[in-house]
Amino acid sequence: MFLRYSYILGGLMIGLVLATPVRAATQDPTPIAACPTDPLAPAETPRVEIDTRNGPTIGTMQYRDGGGLRNKEIALTFDDGPNPDVTPRILDILDKHCIKATFFMVGFYAEARPDLVREVAARGHIIGTHTWSHPNSLRHLSMASAKTQIKRGFAAIKTALASAPPSDRTALAPFFRFPGLNDKKSLIIWLGDHNIATISCSFGADDWKHINANQVYARGLGAIESEGRGILILHDTKPHTADMLSRFIVTLERRGYRFVQLAPKPTSRTLADATPLDLRNALP
Ligand SMILES: [Zn+2]
Repeated sequence: MFLRYSYILGGLMIGLVLATPVRAATQDPTPIAACPTDPLAPAETPRVEIDTRNGPTIGTMQYRDGGGLRNKEIALTFDDGPNPDVTPRILDILDKHCIKATFFMVGFYAEARPDLVREVAARGHIIGTHTWSHPNSLRHLSMASAKTQIKRGFAAIKTALASAPPSDRTALAPFFRFPGLNDKKSLIIWLGDHNIATISCSFGADDWKHINANQVYARGLGAIESEGRGILILHDTKPHTADMLSRFIVTLERRGYRFVQLAPKPTSRTLADATPLDLRNALP
């Protein structure tokens, strides 16, 4: 344990010396406040806002539009939670590094632990949805069943946030991610009719596979280094993801990457509210 912390602290010191002048020389002349618990990080995560009008498809692994991320910008996304064991660990690590992320939640788990949904919102993260029960692929379901999966996913998060402070309720974004990234044209169009964006990714770290934390760390870094920017998919259901996350973030910071948060444009929320999914038969 001591050795591990020494290593991380040593890395922080070296990174601080290297990173500070670069940031000061190339960024806004106003000094950027540092994260109190991570001297390599800024105190706030800039947002990359997605205009969800007509349901764009975002994420270079599958689509042309990368979401507008600039070189060396990384957006962290977490799928399949909320999970009572792993989500709180992930939230603490993100707080430690002053990073805001985007969570794609499964309705069934959100209904089981609405307190965790509210906690994710209260800590400043954005919440998109990822169906009600995470079937492997919506392609094999009827349109009616697939739509119910999507609607119940949104309904579960809405219900969980109904008792949250009004400012936290805006955490729910008109963002949808297909399970297994198995999209379907007709569903993308239907989501677009409701001004909901389909959010894919640029790369993953294979953390859904049976591999250990070091392998997740190495594969995630490898994917990021080969693309230079993008939306990363991780899972807040996997202990090995939480095990490597802090080290992973520090390494990226030392290599000059900056974290951004995928969020909807404020006008997108209004637009999606004006074209709501019909949740009458979808409430859990
Ligand atoms: Zn998933």
